[in-house]
Amino acid sequence: MKELDPLKKIKSALKKAKSAIITAHIDPDADAIGSSLAMAMLLKKLKVKPVIYSQDGIPKIYKFLPWAEKIITRVPEKLRFDLAIVLDSSALERVGNKIDLKKIAKKIINIDHHPDNKQFGDINYCGQSSSAAEEVFKLAKYLKVPLDRDMAENLYVAVITDTGNFRYENTKVSTFLMAAELFKTKLNVHDITTKIYDNKSLASVKISALAMDQLQFSDDKKIAWTSVTEEMLNKVGAKSDDLVGLIDQIRAIEGVEVAILFREDKGKIKVNFRAKANINVSVIANRLGGGGHHKAAGVIMDGPLVNVREQVLAETLKYLV
Ligand code: 5GP
Ligand code: MN
Repeated sequence: MKELDPLKKIKSALKKAKSAIITAHIDPDADAIGSSLAMAMLLKKLKVKPVIYSQDGIPKIYKFLPWAEKIITRVPEKLRFDLAIVLDSSALERVGNKIDLKKIAKKIINIDHHPDNKQFGDINYCGQSSSAAEEVFKLAKYLKVPLDRDMAENLYVAVITDTGNFRYENTKVSTFLMAAELFKTKLNVHDITTKIYDNKSLASVKISALAMDQLQFSDDKKIAWTSVTEEMLNKVGAKSDDLVGLIDQIRAIEGVEVAILFREDKGKIKVNFRAKANINVSVIANRLGGGGHHKAAGVIMDGPLVNVREQVLAETLKYLV
């Protein structure tokens, strides 16, 4: 028998479902948050009751998004769902270790855009588009659910952040066409981008300054890295939210091909990678146990920081000749 296309399978699953838990990855970015919120709005229109869960909550800067206040960080023990919809996550473990979706939901729908997606769902809708938000947009079109302004705002913020404002190679014709359709709902894009890009906390500027002051380079200056310790965060009163964008500033330096940020977080070391042109950092992250995209990837490792740094730099050097 011919395999049904995933959109058809999702449509049929949604028709039968009464409830769904929607979630994305730990340490969520705007695509994780925006695609989850837009998905929840889509479900409500289809009369499926959504619960939106994020283990690490939501970065302060995205709290203005419509329905952001509905995101929960704990799922009541006895709750069960017809569906779990997992967004922007290449593997099920990315959702975090505080819930077991296989136990609390009858079926898992995996909607993603990571090339290294592990196809962990009962239904997998994984394209190669700009963002998980673009996949949700395609799903909404397929289901003929009209976009409203709130849904469009969530999708727009997700797509601009995942494409670096339509700068990265994941920006395709379809991405601009989607943006145009979102725009038609009378989005105030200036207001939205001001809230995201011209709204930095003073603590984030201070922690950037501290981190930049300690920037280190490989001999050929192609790899640049810095570390943020708990002590540094405490010194300027910053939280991990305040580190959004720091890694991109390091990549922006002339001659830098790979930027790496090491940061202490709850006893672990988070490592973020960014590449400028020719190096596929997802391969490096994968070898270390993480994943991501060609030009943005990450991994969480066990400390101490000095050992992690040594291991990561040795691995990265292998890819730069
Ligand atoms: P960011 O640097 O913005 O946190 O993440 C960039 C990309 O790498 C995202 O696509 C994200 O999903 C992926 N990524 C970040 N950290 C991890 C990780 O610990 N494991 C995996 N598999 N992917 C990660
Ligand atoms: Mn994404």
